[in-house]
Parts: sequence; structure tokens; C-alpha cells
Amino acid sequence: MTAAALIVAAGRGQRAGAGLPKQFRPFAGQPMLRWSVAAFRASPAIGRIVVVADPADGDLVHAALDGLPGIETIAGGATRTGSVRRGMEALAAGAPPAHVLIHDAARPGVTPEVIRNVLEALAHVDAAAPALAVADALKRAGDDGTVLDDVPRDDLWRVQTPQGFSFPPLLAAYRALDESAAYADDLAVARAAGLAARLVPGAARLGKITFPEDHAMMEQLVGVGATCVGAGFDAHRFGPGDHVTLCGVRIPHDHGLIGHSDADAGWHALTDALLGAIGAGDIGDHFPPSDPQWRGADSGRFLRHAAALVAQAGGRIVHADVTLICERPRIGPHRAAMRERTAEVLGLPLARASVKATTTERMGFTGREEGLAAQATATVLMPG
Ligand code: MG
Repeated sequence: MTAAALIVAAGRGQRAGAGLPKQFRPFAGQPMLRWSVAAFRASPAIGRIVVVADPADGDLVHAALDGLPGIETIAGGATRTGSVRRGMEALAAGAPPAHVLIHDAARPGVTPEVIRNVLEALAHVDAAAPALAVADALKRAGDDGTVLDDVPRDDLWRVQTPQGFSFPPLLAAYRALDESAAYADDLAVARAAGLAARLVPGAARLGKITFPEDHAMMEQLVGVGATCVGAGFDAHRFGPGDHVTLCGVRIPHDHGLIGHSDADAGWHALTDALLGAIGAGDIGDHFPPSDPQWRGADSGRFLRHAAALVAQAGGRIVHADVTLICERPRIGPHRAAMRERTAEVLGLPLARASVKATTTERMGFTGREEGLAAQATATVLMPG
């Protein structure tokens, strides 16, 4: 039996400052909602993912989920409780899951590990959630800051999300709620219905972005999980022709390059580097030379496709470096244009796109001008 994820993204997020609702704002390079969706997609136990959002934010949801297939979106209610209730009904239609994990889109730091921990606890209880012990002293105070009372913090926990539940009893609890009911969280709904609940270890990176100052702090905590560097190499043989295409730039030459596509060895190497950074095979897997549709193709299509796969994997390209290896044509006069084209296709600042050239001192196949070669590295930041 699989589990489902219900991601609540219907809030207006007014306390987090003006502008877009916070769950759609750029967070470490991509819309905040996308971080949570990517973590659930990367969790093998999660079979369905439902995002509950305000229909007015339809375009924002669409943009945040671009390239991530199979995500269901439904309209939220007037309150968070109402939104979760609608999400539960959406899951109940079709094949109801055994478990549901309910998560706030404003907590972009969720990881497959936390998801697994919550699911493991659900083998023993009907409700579980990650939580952190309270470290600060607690006071009750009046509006003017006057301290009125000391509050013992023993046994107090800050509860985070995703909160996990056995699906049938939580569905029953939500169906039994009054339409106007508003609970602090789903654990409260479950406990009010008599479900046993257990806390599992939470994490600072699971914190909720509530106030403007939270955003930068959470980006530091969540932004980078791993820096993945992919390498690529390619070579093409010279043949008849009057130009070569390298890193998207057409260069007049007394030979052409033989290849199924436009034979742009520079961008082929870089495409392989991007695929290598996310472990997605090589250029031949995605664009088989046997497929006639790639005959004479602009290699920019390959590069853009690899960049889209990186985005789908939740990654962000931060640097690309290509080395072209040939005696002729001379690369120097075209390097600036090659950098600009590469930066443009990958959406990188110019400073993060590098094109270099070398000869092999007349040694080997490049030295004999039988062909030319290229190698490349691509650096991709992957979420934790
Ligand atoms: Mg090639």
C-alpha cells in the first residue's frame, strides 16, 4: 500500500511580506513549492501527490510544477482546515492511500529522509509528525511586552510538517468536522478524533517561512544539498564542408564535421556533462543517432533538453566549462560568442559559462587534423 502526499499551498502568506504568496516566491533558485514537490517525488513510498492551491494562483502553480508530471492540483478552501479537507476528499476519490503525509508548502526543507521517518512511525501509530524540543525560555507577555508569566518548557515541542496519518481514520475525522472548524494543525484534528500520535525527530531545515527574515536564513539551510559535477567528452571527424558549428557558433572552415546532427562537439560534451551530473545516461540514450529526426539537428536542442532534465530532477545549473581541442579552425576569435550562446541557452550569467581552447601540439588525431574533440564539466546544485 502506498502513501500519498498532500501539499497545502493555498495560503496568502501576508506576514512574509508583500508580493507573491510566499510559496511561489523564488527560493534558492526555484519556486518554493517546487522544493517540497521534488522531495516527495524523490520518495519511493509516495504514490500520489496532490497540491491544494487557490484557483487564483493557477498560473503560479503551473509555473512551479513545470516539467514535473503526475502532480494533481485541486482548489483550496477558505481556511487551511478547509483546504486539507478538500485534499482528503480528492484522495478518497479513486484508490485511497493507506497513509497520507500532509505538508506545508512554506516548509521547503522537507527531505526524503524525514518522509521515511514519518512513514516508519505510522507502522506503530495512526499519527506522526517531526518535532524539535523548545530550547528558549518561554514567557507569556502582554501587548506592550510586559512579562506576565513564566511558562515551563519541559515536555514542550515545536511540531513541523510533513505530518503523517493513517488515511481512513483521518478522513473520518475531517468528514466529522464542523464546516467552520479551524485547527492549528492536522495533528490536532487527529487527536481530537482520538487518534494516537507520536513525534519523530524534526530538523531546523524543516522550519516554516513565516516572516520576511526567515527567507534568507532558510535558503542558507536548505539551498544546497549536494554539488554535483558532471563531465563530458566528444569527438567528430572532419569531412567535406565549408564550416563547423562549435558551441552554437558557425565558423567558416575548409572542412566540415561529420555527424548525425550539426556535429557540435562542444555542446555534445556539455550535454553529456549535464546528464552526468544527474545520472541520466548520455546523449545517445536521449537522442539516438538512429532516429532520423535528429539529422542535422541544432545541438542547442540537446543542450536545452538536458537542462530541462536537470530542472525536473530538482537541480540548478550553476556553471559550465567547455574545452575545445583542435589545431584549426582558430577558436580565439569566436570564444566570446560561444560563451554568450552557451550562457543564453542554459540561462546562466556570462561569468558562469566558460569556453576554452587548446591544441595537442600536432600530436594524435586532433594534431593530424583528422577531427576535433571537446570536453566539458557542468556543476549542478541538487537539493538535500
Ligand atoms: Mg557528438
